[in-house]
Amino acid sequence: MLRIGCHLSSSKGFLHMGEEAVSIGANTFQFFTRNPRGSRAKQLDLQDVRAYLDYAGAHGIGRIVAHAPYTLNPCSGDPKVREFARLTFADDLERMEYLPGAVYNFHPGSHVGQGAEKGIELIADLLNEVLRPELHTKVLLETMAGKGTEVGGRFEELAGIIARVERKECMGVCLDTCHVYDAGYDIVGDLDGVLAEFDRVIGLERLQAVHVNDSKNPFQSHKDRHERIGEGSIGLEALYRVVHHPLLADLPFCLETPNELDGYAREIQMLRG
Ligand code: FE
Ligand code: FE
Ligand code: ZN
Repeated sequence: MLRIGCHLSSSKGFLHMGEEAVSIGANTFQFFTRNPRGSRAKQLDLQDVRAYLDYAGAHGIGRIVAHAPYTLNPCSGDPKVREFARLTFADDLERMEYLPGAVYNFHPGSHVGQGAEKGIELIADLLNEVLRPELHTKVLLETMAGKGTEVGGRFEELAGIIARVERKECMGVCLDTCHVYDAGYDIVGDLDGVLAEFDRVIGLERLQAVHVNDSKNPFQSHKDRHERIGEGSIGLEALYRVVHHPLLADLPFCLETPNELDGYAREIQMLRG
């Protein structure tokens, strides 16, 4: 069965997110590990986590996606910014141990003029520091739109990061439909070709999650503005083909479209078909 859900606010805890997911017909969801702009995470409420895990088991919610704050920049030119990214990442991974099977997705970062090669090196350095042997969580690099100096707009850059990571068994990729389309991968005209390219450069076995978003901007715009499903340049038909593609079966699909819960419920229904 199609595993689909959306981004939910974690402010009321895990059990609440589980209940919200079920209420909109979702069987997975994504949440920020802390305020998306960074800052401190509140203490994990283990009772809430336990209640959630029971609830998720009973309601068929599985393979949820944690999203790192998007201000985290592992390849900043400023050592203080990199140190903040490392501490945040390490702390998040420790908490993730309480959510067995959940994956941790992050934006590789922006090299801010140092060049993609240097960016790739710094990102891999951070991963080699935080992926300690006793940790179990899969860490996902998100495919990016290639806005500004973002690293990860090309599959080759993600492959370059993975190649430098020692604990490769912990590494995966999350494909964002808006981002790859904005980056110049034509998932509308040639989805099979894009997946073949992903397989050739990264390996499809690394693909662990998908962000399902339409795009406000045209193909190859390098913009990264999400649109509601069917209201953007990608369109419902192409996104329907993504979530039902046989090579992507069993992956968690998460909507990150500009919606409230009722809008998400409609989009989930549309995409289930
Ligand atoms: Fe993201
Ligand atoms: Fe995304
Ligand atoms: Zn985005």
